[in-house]
Amino acid sequence: MSVTTLLHKSQFSKPDIVRLLSAAGENEKLLFDFSSEIKQVNVSNTVYLRGLIELSNICEKDCYYCGIRKSNEKVHRYTVSEEETLETIRYAYEKGYGSVAIQSGEVQSKAFTEKINRILRKAMEMSNGELGITLSCGEQTEETYRRWFESGAKRYLLRIETSSPELYRKLHPEDKKHCFEKRLEALKTLKSIGYQTGTGVMIGLPFQTVEDLADDLLFMRDFDIVMCGMGSYIEHHETPLYRYHDQLLSLNERLEMSLKMVAVLRIMMPDINIAATTALQTIEKNARIKAIKIGANVLMPNITPHRYRDDYFLYENKPVSTQSDEDDLENLDKSLQAIGHRIGYGVQGNSLHFISPPTR
Ligand code: SAH
Ligand code: SF4
Repeated sequence: MSVTTLLHKSQFSKPDIVRLLSAAGENEKLLFDFSSEIKQVNVSNTVYLRGLIELSNICEKDCYYCGIRKSNEKVHRYTVSEEETLETIRYAYEKGYGSVAIQSGEVQSKAFTEKINRILRKAMEMSNGELGITLSCGEQTEETYRRWFESGAKRYLLRIETSSPELYRKLHPEDKKHCFEKRLEALKTLKSIGYQTGTGVMIGLPFQTVEDLADDLLFMRDFDIVMCGMGSYIEHHETPLYRYHDQLLSLNERLEMSLKMVAVLRIMMPDINIAATTALQTIEKNARIKAIKIGANVLMPNITPHRYRDDYFLYENKPVSTQSDEDDLENLDKSLQAIGHRIGYGVQGNSLHFISPPTR
């Protein structure tokens, strides 16, 4: 079967996905042209913004890939204060970001969960409920997830990291805190509460195969996610996984594979929100724009107060913008216009794939 015929199939099988993820040259171009078209038809050329606030790099977990894992003693730990967070949220609201995303290391303490709760309530009050808020603060109890939902967070991003339980075990310590089944359970809980639930994976991990990546996309389809944030794995010196760095695909190959993942997911799930993530931009300055072109429709510009930015290093060489955020937004706007896209200012940009459950 030619790639063109394959692309028009109503549903991809695992071998189909493996074939598309392995596409190169002319076939890859066919894939990207097709996914851009699917994107235009289903979610248009509008790009939605989520101002990203990296609230804290304090984390209770020890994921083997992550630079801010608990055991990395070289990290200077910080937490953005409640006041600064609210100021940043106000800034985002006034600039027309429409939505913010609050990301953090995983902490389950009452002090932390209550702080998030207060931030949510105040942000809702300040924006008359207009601002969309996404949380990405790891695994929490059902009660916490519920409280945060009731206080105004309507979206939650929790990456499954990999849909393969065996691979998951190789990337995390073997204890109750880092358990694949619990992560999956947390995703289910988020969905049942009524969150617009998003997940994602890292691409180009050690031991990961193209078949694993195909399974990841099938997982997203079967779980019926409404948002996705996935990006290349980027090694970090001060992590256990670094010892396998010489077995990895090159950074460019990881980027290429990530773009193909975005394209294939767009075809499989035409009306979900897909983010062009920072990890892509780390590899190549223009990569987020490339991702937008071939399927992504969400950008997450970093709006964390500048003095904290040097400390949120999940991976190495992360771009730390020295420009003001306004300049960044202006530049983004220009780059997007150059590829025939526009920013959806002042709107939440909820996932079209999200259908309100009957309880709401
Ligand atoms: N603590 C929360 C949210 C912050 S971490 C959580 O883990 O869910 C956000 C994401 O960063 C993780 O889900 C992971 O996919 C990604 N990440 C961590 N280390 C990375 C690395 N070395 N390269 C690429 N992405 C990484
Ligand atoms: Fe913590 Fe998230 Fe990093 Fe794991 S990936 S160590 S939970 S910040």
